Amino acid sequence: MTHWDYIVVGGGVMGSATAYQLARRGERVLLLEQFAIGHMRGSSHGHSRIIRYSYETPGYVQLMRAAYQAWADAEQDASTQLVHVVGGLDVGDPETPSLQACYASLRANGIACEWLDQRALAERFPQFLLSESMVGLYQADAGILPASQCVATLLVQARRYGADVRENVAVQQIKADGDGVAVQTTQETYLADRIVITAGSWAQALLRDLGLDLPLKVTREQVVFFAPRRPELFAPDRFPIFISYGATEREGSVFNFYGFPIFGLAGIKVAQHHAGLVIQPDDDNTAPEPAATRRVQAYVEQMLPDAAGEVLHAETCRYTSTPDMDFILDCHPVYPQIIVGSPCSGHGFKFGALVGHILADLAQGGMTKHAIAPFTLRRFGV
Ligand SMILES: Cc1cc2nc3c(=O)[nH]c(=O)nc-3n(C[C@H](O)[C@H](O)[C@H](O)COP(=O)(O)OP(=O)(O)OC[C@H]3O[C@@H](n4cnc5c(N)ncnc54)[C@H](O)[C@@H]3O)c2cc1C
Repeated sequence: MTHWDYIVVGGGVMGSATAYQLARRGERVLLLEQFAIGHMRGSSHGHSRIIRYSYETPGYVQLMRAAYQAWADAEQDASTQLVHVVGGLDVGDPETPSLQACYASLRANGIACEWLDQRALAERFPQFLLSESMVGLYQADAGILPASQCVATLLVQARRYGADVRENVAVQQIKADGDGVAVQTTQETYLADRIVITAGSWAQALLRDLGLDLPLKVTREQVVFFAPRRPELFAPDRFPIFISYGATEREGSVFNFYGFPIFGLAGIKVAQHHAGLVIQPDDDNTAPEPAATRRVQAYVEQMLPDAAGEVLHAETCRYTSTPDMDFILDCHPVYPQIIVGSPCSGHGFKFGALVGHILADLAQGGMTKHAIAPFTLRRFGV
């Protein structure tokens, strides 16, 4: 049986960033991914993810400072641009609690932002056909992470520093073995000093075997690309990433729709947040739902009429959510050699580069300087 210092389970953004950090720190790392890297069944593939400071909880805003820095370091190390700043706009009714809370937590953290009243919003972003009462919160540093390119870059860097990245190897069982772990896979059994589980929507089964029964929900979400009728209005220098808080907030959903300017070869991308069907982790269906596409189309027709051209493409991706929508970044309560990093409740990508540092810290020394107290396993009573 081969022995490794560290094994990382999963080659999504969290596992790739962790393997990269551990390898960069000189550790011997094996990353195991059950499918081909970049596959379409997980959470980290695709055209783009939003990066932004704007969060309701001040703690996330604070972590985003470190996350922006971690992406900048990765960019410098790889000589590749990953963060594309285009500005970000939160829009909604001025009384919307989420909008108010984002404004308050940006200000509490000293992040420059602008509160746009209805007139200023209409003048600055005439692409939106907003109701009279709507206002905006603009933050200039928000932008786009090209998701698949980010994962590929992190893995190239992990390999450059010596990590062994193996595709199409599924971890079937993890057992504590003294101070280390024994990891049974579809190919062979490995021994390691430490293991980091960043298995996204598949984490639940692996963790259940380790005595952790977590209340995780997996949903299949969908994004839709449109060819705008007036593409010049949706270029990244004129149109920001946006999050639109709707009336449904009172019915329990945090925000409604979000979208991107034209970026790369695609049209504009728009999606509904937390609107997907609950699925089982082993569900291999990745086909978009026509009804979900129509809901997004109706939103675009109503709110962004100049963008409501042909639907170019729709694709799916998974959220794995905790009941409180916060992350899990912690050591196993009984076996400290087992570290859990995920799931990220549909908003984790922007933290990916930082999560790599945090999980590498936990794996190496059981602690980190970053403020991860809200992300414990203990909060689930395990
Ligand atoms: C439609 C959509 C839009 C999103 N938008 C944003 C956004 O704008 N901004 C943002 O910050 N976040 C966003 N997110 C969330 C973000 O993408 C996720 O939080 C993040 O990608 C989670 O990454 P992960 O590495 O934890 O999971 P995954 O990407 O799913 O990676 C887990 C990997 O582990 C592998 N694996 C699982 N079990 C095993 C096993 N037993 N053996 C070997 N390998 C295994 C899986 O195959 C998978 O590749 C979005 C997500 C979706 C789906």
